[in-house]
Amino acid sequence: MGTESPLQWIELSRQAFNHNIDSLVRLASGKKVAVSVKANAYGHGLPQIVSLLAERNDVDYLSVHSLGEGIDCREAGWKRRIIVLGPIPDDCLDAVPEFDLEPTIFDIGTLKKLGAVSKRRKQKIQTHLKLETGTNRQGITIDELPKFANAYKSFEYIKKPYGASMHFANIEDTTAHEYADYQLKKFHKMTAMMTKLGIKPTIRHAAASAAMILFDKTRFDLVRPGIAAYGLWPSKETYLSYRLSGGENDLFWSVLSWKAKITQIKNLEADSFVGYGCSYRTTSKTKLAIIPVGYCDGYDRRLSNIAHLIIKGMRSPVRGRICMNLLMADITDIKGVKAGETAILIGQDKSEQVSIEQVADWSSTIHYEVAARLSSDLPRQVVE
Ligand SMILES: *Cc1c(COP(=O)(O)O)cnc(C)c1O
Repeated sequence: MGTESPLQWIELSRQAFNHNIDSLVRLASGKKVAVSVKANAYGHGLPQIVSLLAERNDVDYLSVHSLGEGIDCREAGWKRRIIVLGPIPDDCLDAVPEFDLEPTIFDIGTLKKLGAVSKRRKQKIQTHLKLETGTNRQGITIDELPKFANAYKSFEYIKKPYGASMHFANIEDTTAHEYADYQLKKFHKMTAMMTKLGIKPTIRHAAASAAMILFDKTRFDLVRPGIAAYGLWPSKETYLSYRLSGGENDLFWSVLSWKAKITQIKNLEADSFVGYGCSYRTTSKTKLAIIPVGYCDGYDRRLSNIAHLIIKGMRSPVRGRICMNLLMADITDIKGVKAGETAILIGQDKSEQVSIEQVADWSSTIHYEVAARLSSDLPRQVVE
């Protein structure tokens, strides 16, 4: 943003983040840990989160979706390993060894081109072969394994994948985990086949947050948590399953607060309309706070007339529609609010809390989406 005092900003709690990573490292019980920082570190801010992780010595890996995110991690000073989970355009493959990234492999053409890049540059490239076990997203099937094995074995430097990976389709959304067991069986069968084909993986990995929290048999040699690092449970079902199995309540603390300055205060007569579409009408004299946050910042338009903010420790309901860059909130019954006062969009003050989960419920989506869509333009600062 570049301004001296921003009108809205995100605060990240160092203590909460470190607490969450402590919990994850403890759950990983000696396995390697790869923290996901895709989607601008789930909206928390990639450079800030990478710096926090770099201060610790117990996180082995970052995982990212794209090549660009991998490079961003290097630019933020990350010296340890990085897995790229998503596709990399063929004409960018030289960046893989250049930035020492470990791509996920699910395409034979890309694998062969990577082999050629490695040979030309005389550099080793570590890869992770993605196995299809039932999510039907990026993995390769068991029938394709011999083809990939032959491609690997024909290479000069990378003669086999470093890792074999899979991703669960149905752990977060349910308390019944039969499908996860089915996928796990397939994974075991496919990694055994890899060994037979002469491309035995050095490490195997499968578990995102929900799997690693609930099932130690999914942890293998490395775990890949994302959402939990930010203090968010993957889902209510995951939380429930965990608690029913006797787990403690204190594993994760939320890291992020989103705050803004009230820029104007308005006094309205009874029977006044508020905002576009006249969707709200006052029934008595009303005091409104104008707040310079809108849907372009990631405050969803579906929060119109539904959400509340926290001002002076009290609930302040959103009135009228969320605009592109502004919203209006009712402060009639909150005493002594002046322009310049801070409003909390996400976060906590005294006994009031607006969580990312609450915002997700109000806007009929999941907390992953709310976090991921926080505008990357918002200034972010780590607070003690
Ligand atoms: C995003 C992602 C993760 C992390 O998932 P969370 O549910 O946020 O813990 C792990 N593995 C893969 C392949 C992913 O895409």
